[in-house]
Amino acid sequence: MRKITLSNGKTVEVECLSCALTSGLIEPDGGVVYESEFFHAHQDVAYPIKGLIILASKRHIKCFDELTEVEKLDYIKILSRIRQAQREVLGIEYVYYFYNEDTTHHFHTWMVPRYEWMYEFGRSVESIRPVLLHARNEMNNKESIKEVMEAINSLTKELNSCY
Ligand SMILES: [Zn+2]
Repeated sequence: MRKITLSNGKTVEVECLSCALTSGLIEPDGGVVYESEFFHAHQDVAYPIKGLIILASKRHIKCFDELTEVEKLDYIKILSRIRQAQREVLGIEYVYYFYNEDTTHHFHTWMVPRYEWMYEFGRSVESIRPVLLHARNEMNNKESIKEVMEAINSLTKELNSCY
């Protein structure tokens, strides 16, 4: 078991944070943005970046080659649907995708939108960590949190509308 401190200050003990989230044991701040039979999407509010979405599998697996055929199709479908919603609702031009198999949680892909202010931290993979740290340490204020919550609501609405 691992102790995890949530953004609301509560501490929970879980085997795997992703399992706790995808099973509904822990409700992510801002709620579930989108959910299918196999995947679960939410914003990681620890990093107040509008439209930063975590797409996690529901099964406790770690590696890409553990996905079943039907999960693979579902994954690419949801990933591109979220991507489209980021563009249409939030005007996000570019997204960085990050996914590590040696995670302490389970299979989850980060979709990190690219904003103008991020370029001072460089480009491509080298900029990801400083960008996330900057967001967590310098942008953790009422104003950005409010913007992030509004973005979550718009994305959730868009992704769950019939089309
Ligand atoms: Zn898990």
